[in-house]
Amino acid sequence: MKLKSTTCCIIILLLVLSIFTIPTKVYSKDQKLIYLTFDDGPGYNVTENILDILKSENVKATFFVIGSKIPGRESTLNRMKSEGHSIGLHTYSHEYRKIYKNNESFINEMNAAGNTIKNVTGISSKIIRFPSGSNGHMNEALLNELHSMNYKVFDWNLCLSDGINHNTPVSKLYREGTEKCVNPSRIFLLAHCGAENKNTCTVLPQIIKYYKNLGYEFRPITDTTPEYHFRISK
Ligand SMILES: [Zn+2]
Repeated sequence: MKLKSTTCCIIILLLVLSIFTIPTKVYSKDQKLIYLTFDDGPGYNVTENILDILKSENVKATFFVIGSKIPGRESTLNRMKSEGHSIGLHTYSHEYRKIYKNNESFINEMNAAGNTIKNVTGISSKIIRFPSGSNGHMNEALLNELHSMNYKVFDWNLCLSDGINHNTPVSKLYREGTEKCVNPSRIFLLAHCGAENKNTCTVLPQIIKYYKNLGYEFRPITDTTPEYHFRISK
């Protein structure tokens, strides 16, 4: 009889525990986010093509734009905004010698890109991406300074090699975009949308389909997105 009641207690305890643990499990299993990010725009045809694809797939993304590319392409920038995408800063000139001369130059470049975006769209963007990534370019002092100006740094954990070689075959881009990610519940995928990135347009619908089939939610990076950057160099 004693054994029976003990068993009964254990079963009840397990049932109670399972009620409390099930929602947590479901939540973490469901939490599959992907942030599609496109650097080096706005360009004419490619950026517009990417916007067309995102629209027909009903997916929102983030564009880290170069300030000096904006004049003459204001309508593309405004299209990003009106269609619900995020616009981030990717420096004004994208010239490494200039932007990485010192911390002050880097901040000036980001501010200049931010001012241009604000003048065109009215958006005060605080999300930034270092050209070629923060790795080796960001130290603690720079990060603190960026934070004091409310900037948030976003690197990536999955990337297409379309920024290194514009002619990377579509099949290779697909493999890169669907590789196992170090953080599969929160993917930041880097791609490019400069004028020469035509293969990126071809592969994009396939990559979107892949993540849709896996149940991923597509999100644009916003001011409230938790920051994501590479390890800071000493
Ligand atoms: Zn870039």
